[in-house]
Parts: sequence; structure tokens; C-alpha cells
Amino acid sequence: MTGKIATIGIIGAGQMGGGIAHVSAVAGYTVKLYDISAERIEAGIATISGNMARQVSSGKMEESVRQGALARIIGAPELNDLADCDLVIEAATEDETIKRKIFAQLCPILNPEAILATNTSSISITRLAAQTDRPERFIGIHFMNPVPVMKLVEVIRGIATEESTFETAKEYVTRLEKTMTVAEDFPAFIVNRILLPMINEAIYTLYEGVGTVEAIDTAMKLGANHPMGPLQLADFIGLDTCLSIMQVLYEGLADSKYRPCPLLVKYVEAGWLGRKTGRGFYDYRGEHPVPTR
Ligand code: NAD
Repeated sequence: MTGKIATIGIIGAGQMGGGIAHVSAVAGYTVKLYDISAERIEAGIATISGNMARQVSSGKMEESVRQGALARIIGAPELNDLADCDLVIEAATEDETIKRKIFAQLCPILNPEAILATNTSSISITRLAAQTDRPERFIGIHFMNPVPVMKLVEVIRGIATEESTFETAKEYVTRLEKTMTVAEDFPAFIVNRILLPMINEAIYTLYEGVGTVEAIDTAMKLGANHPMGPLQLADFIGLDTCLSIMQVLYEGLADSKYRPCPLLVKYVEAGWLGRKTGRGFYDYRGEHPVPTR
């Protein structure tokens, strides 16, 4: 399909789905936002509205643009509401079983010409595509967090992805004024293949007592000139997402160097998932983040 994309469905109204809805609506697309409950959709739209308001107050966006974009974001409480979408981007929790179920329910609803994309951080595009009725119109469009700020989008073809699908994805990314890099379909693609082992190593450094949370983050900020420390970044990504990506690397590449740190597992088991739950390597519930170790 080379036709124009006008309406985009987004599945998952969390950090990433909300961000993708935000930039797509600003670029002029009509967006339909779906999640498992009306409350989550409303919360997602409220966050988008707040993020746009911050862009307006810092002079990065006109108020009229914000209003126009918000008017183009429509809550979709039922999957059926996505029937008229030209492109659907799945941005639900990083769990292959959840994603497979979504595709199984969604495919019969969609127009056969519609393109299906996933924002997965690590899972095989080819394997996800094979679960659908349209592997040739399936592609990975991997945004970075926070979507309105980060310039990069990784585009990943599955083995069956047609050139016209790739061209449509490229047009979409270009219209969002993002820079596209192409990655081959191997576990965690490019950015996370390099970034997540570093974050995991930072957690091992903490686990082994080489440094405190503060020492590790300060060391990497001032010693390697990173804008954020690796533990701060892990909290920002979400520790559940970090663990899922490490598991995909560990299993997908069958190399012990990707073994997820047991301390990361412990934080996830505690439900301390980082910023989104108020606590991770830092506690965000007070005025300033306080290290939890
Ligand atoms: P999140 O936890 O903020 O949001 C996930 C959302 O998915 C939640 O609102 C949840 O209710 C929803 N969801 C769960 N099951 C669902 C279902 N069956 N149908 C519809 N919605 C469902 O997570 P996130 O950080 O937004 O991550 C979403 C995806 O984006 C993951 O695949 C993740 O790997 C990927 N990603 C994350 C980052 C990051 O830095 N956090 C960056 C790039 C890509």
C-alpha cells in the first residue's frame, strides 16, 4: 500500500502510546487511542494535554496548535473503533503474549490494506508479523522516550515486510520531522542492544556494592558526559521494560553476558518500576528524587 495515511490507531495509552499520539496529532494525523479501560485512555489524553501545555508555556508550541492537535486525538474504548485506521501502531506493555493477543483480536477488524506497526523495544518483528494475517504489511516503528523530545525513530523490517510498507513508514516518520535509522530484525535492534547492557551493568555495579545509586549516576554523568545517569535512565524507561529487553537479549542471543541482574528482577518483583510507579532506583514521591539504595 502506498496510499496516504490519514487516521492512525494507537494501542496502549501509556508513556509511549501517549507520546506517539502527541506527535502524530501535531503532525496533522487523526489519532484513535485505545487501551484496556476508559480510565487509562482518559489518563493518557490528560497526560498528553499536560505535556503539550508545557510545550506551549516554554514557547515550543502555539496554543492554537495544541488545541488543534488535542481535537484530533479521539479516545477509542473498543478495538472496533480502530476499523477505519490506515495505520495502527501497537505500543502496549512489552510482553509477547499480550502483543500476540492484541494482533489476533485486531486483524479481523482492520481494513485488509491497513498497515500494522509495533513499537516493541526488543521482540522479533518477523515473529510478531507471522502471528498476523498481513506479515507483508507489518513493520517495527520504534520511538524513543520521551517521544515529543527524542529525534530518533528506528524502523525495522520483518523478513516479509514489503517495500511499499517500508516506504509508508518512512513517509510517516519524515512527516513527524524525526530522523530515521534502519535496523535489522535482531533482538533489541540497535539502540537497546547497546544501551540496555550498559544499564544492566550499572545495576550489577550497584548489586556488587561498587558504588551507591548516586555514585554510579554521578560517575556516568560527569565521567562519560551522559545527560542522565544509567539508573536514572532505567527508572525513566521503566524497570519492567528494562527487564523484558534483557530477557529478550539473553534468550534471543543465548549469551550469558546478557543475564539480567538479580537486583533488577527484585525491583520489578517489588512493583518498583521507576518513575511511572513513583519508586525505582529513586523514590519520586517527595519533592526531590531520593535514592532507594
Ligand atoms: P507503559 O507501561 O507506560 O504503557 C503500556 C500501556 O499498555 C498501559 O497503559 C497498559 O494499560 C497498556 N496495555 C496493556 N495491555 C494492553 C492490551 N491488551 N490492550 C491495550 N493496551 C494494553 O509502557 P511504555 O513505556 O509506554 O511501553 C510500551 C511499549 O513501548 C513497549 O513495547 C515498550 O517496550 C516500548 N518502548 C518503551 C520505551 C520506554 O522508554 N519506556 C521506549 C521505546 C519503546
